[in-house]
Amino acid sequence: MMISRRDFFITSAKILAAAGGGMVLSDPVWQRILSGGDSGLAFGASYLDDLIRLAPGARYWKPLAIKGEGNSREKTIVKCLLCPNGCAIAVGQRGKCRTRMNVNGELRSLVYGRPLSIHVDPIEKKPLYHYLPSTAAFSLATAGCPLSCKFCQNWEISQASPEDHRGPFAPPSMIVDAAQNSRSPVIAFTYNEPTVFTEYLVDIAREAKKKNIRSVMISCGFMNEAPLAEICGVLDAIKIDLKGYSENFYRTVCGASLRPVLRSIKQIAKSRVHLEIVNLVVPTLNDSDKMLQEHPGNHTYCPGCGKIVIERQSFFVTEMNIKNGQCKFCGRKIAGVWA
Ligand code: SF4
Repeated sequence: MMISRRDFFITSAKILAAAGGGMVLSDPVWQRILSGGDSGLAFGASYLDDLIRLAPGARYWKPLAIKGEGNSREKTIVKCLLCPNGCAIAVGQRGKCRTRMNVNGELRSLVYGRPLSIHVDPIEKKPLYHYLPSTAAFSLATAGCPLSCKFCQNWEISQASPEDHRGPFAPPSMIVDAAQNSRSPVIAFTYNEPTVFTEYLVDIAREAKKKNIRSVMISCGFMNEAPLAEICGVLDAIKIDLKGYSENFYRTVCGASLRPVLRSIKQIAKSRVHLEIVNLVVPTLNDSDKMLQEHPGNHTYCPGCGKIVIERQSFFVTEMNIKNGQCKFCGRKIAGVWA
């Protein structure tokens, strides 16, 4: 029997609610969202039409007006300035990330208010290791990504189009309410590349700040300077996935380039935002259970006395030896955000 994604979500929510599960889909706010009551959007056959009709204008683009070939009509092409792909997009078309569409000469975001994956995760799963250890992070994603990494573990989301996974409209205030109800002190933009939903991310983070909820982003770092400056203005921490260290690797495996990623890392490092960088593990080369769960590099060591100040097993903190931001053994200050 075929089951729609919406039915799957609702059934899962009921099961989780009955089981007292931790996923936020059991939250009453999400029950309301999943019922479609707040969307003004029917789950009809014309879902894509509705998605386009209701999509708000995007930021970070400019019009490029050129003459149409073979006739005198002008066709308006827009250039997206959000990421270094710099897509030139004709009317009715989308950029490489599939989330930004030229609608009659205006660039619109098809993923604003359209989360398709939501979980409450330990912040170690992001992973952020020196930012509020053991904290619950209300994590969400939309469809789309400006990259096309061959190894992507979230390809069902990142390489999807917004219309592939139908869902109701979830305004920023609703996301913040759901995070608050799940008792998560942090909202994490993650799973796909959050750059593609910059406008939504910024609005959620602003709403969240009003309720003392912090916001973090898990990103590939492939974005332009101006949007990143806006993002840095509202976020509290950013983790960058450094997927390799050569232009050739980025070009052939990720469909991108390394240079803009390094530029973003420098920009974030100069901002007030807490920055962590992760070198990705490449499957089949260094991803055995032993390497991931027992590796001594998974812990944090005091640079003063060398003792383990945060011990981790997989995504979980098993021992914490930091007090007031200092090593419990020798008192050395440890870099990070601890409370
Ligand atoms: S964000 Fe999307 S549409 Fe804009 S330049 Fe990047 S890939 Fe193209």
